[in-house]
Amino acid sequence: MFLKTLHLKQFRNYQEQRVDFVAPKTILLGNNAQGKSNLLEAVELLATLRTHRIARDRDLVRDGENISLILATLQREAGISDLKLTLRRNGRRTVNLNSENLRRQMDFLGVLNAVEFSSLDLELVRGGPDGRRNWLNTLLIQLEPVYAHILQQYNKVLRQRNALLKSYQQSELKVPPKELAVWDAQLVSAGTKVIRRRDRALQRLTPIASNWHASISNSTEVLRIKYLPSIPLEENEPEQVQQAFFTKIEQRSVAELHQGTTLVGPHRDEVELTINQTAARQYGSQGQQRTLVLALKLAELQLIEEVVGEPPLLLLDDVLAELDPSRQNQLLDAIQDRFQTLITTTHLGSFDSQWLKSSQILHVKAGE
Ligand code: ATP
Ligand code: MG
Repeated sequence: MFLKTLHLKQFRNYQEQRVDFVAPKTILLGNNAQGKSNLLEAVELLATLRTHRIARDRDLVRDGENISLILATLQREAGISDLKLTLRRNGRRTVNLNSENLRRQMDFLGVLNAVEFSSLDLELVRGGPDGRRNWLNTLLIQLEPVYAHILQQYNKVLRQRNALLKSYQQSELKVPPKELAVWDAQLVSAGTKVIRRRDRALQRLTPIASNWHASISNSTEVLRIKYLPSIPLEENEPEQVQQAFFTKIEQRSVAELHQGTTLVGPHRDEVELTINQTAARQYGSQGQQRTLVLALKLAELQLIEEVVGEPPLLLLDDVLAELDPSRQNQLLDAIQDRFQTLITTTHLGSFDSQWLKSSQILHVKAGE
């Protein structure tokens, strides 16, 4: 797929800017704080309706404005699509596809696919489980947009169940609330869908990531990605997962009532990244951790391409400078002209002449 144009109105530090993309690679060149990452963020929003940097819609809308528009024209094998995302300071969003207002965000999600890779992604290795769940959610949304709906359902049930547990904890009641059983069933039903999809996606991603890792690190180190759901998962069949889920809730029921919160379910899942069976977080140098993240990102690109049937966009935010020359070349070789790539940088020093020849260079200055 190829993003032909992007048009930003009152988004972040952009007043109004239209960009026409004319080459497989676009280099966004500029000093710090000029709007390079903001532009990538706009594309990321069109792809996932989420952003890497934690931001509320009122942070995304340009200061002093109430509404922000991100418009794009995308060329896919099946034809051209016009996308429009409207963001409002009050958080209400609207999505349009080919001038038609879509009621379900899910129908917007599969249209543009993109993988973002920024220095924030190192948190995948170094940070807590939250970041890895978020990463997995963002990937799944692109692999199967219905996942966005499933996750939303799950989170809604979780909030309501937590509210009930909290009110019990704060009350003088001696018997657990009767409605709890209803919420248990809903939690299990929605949670099982989340767990099974996460498991399936990681099963597919792992061999691809391991291959990339072996080729980049040029060694016999073995990368493993292991899904550690908060309930034991022996088989990926709905009945088995549901059964195990109910059993676990039962086991934790006293603790849940005591703590006033839900202790079992995909909101407690972990994804373990190991190299030669050692947790990557404790393992090795920053360079090795970067290699791991690079392998994960390349695997994401490849998996999305396999599932969707077209190469997604790659958004590289300030990462080239952090890789050593050999890893830079691995990355650049892997991309070739296969994936449309938008890449931010403060200077052109990291690019070889071959790369520069096939790139469009956009100078970004103060939101223009
Ligand atoms: P760096 O090289 O440091 O990463 P960058 O070019 O990627 O810089 P961005 O993160 O794209 O920088 O842009 C940051 C600028 O956008 C900052 O000056 C920030 O104040 C401004 N900005 C962010 N949100 C808004 C907003 N809602 N309204 C106006 N300006 C904003
Ligand atoms: Mg930036």
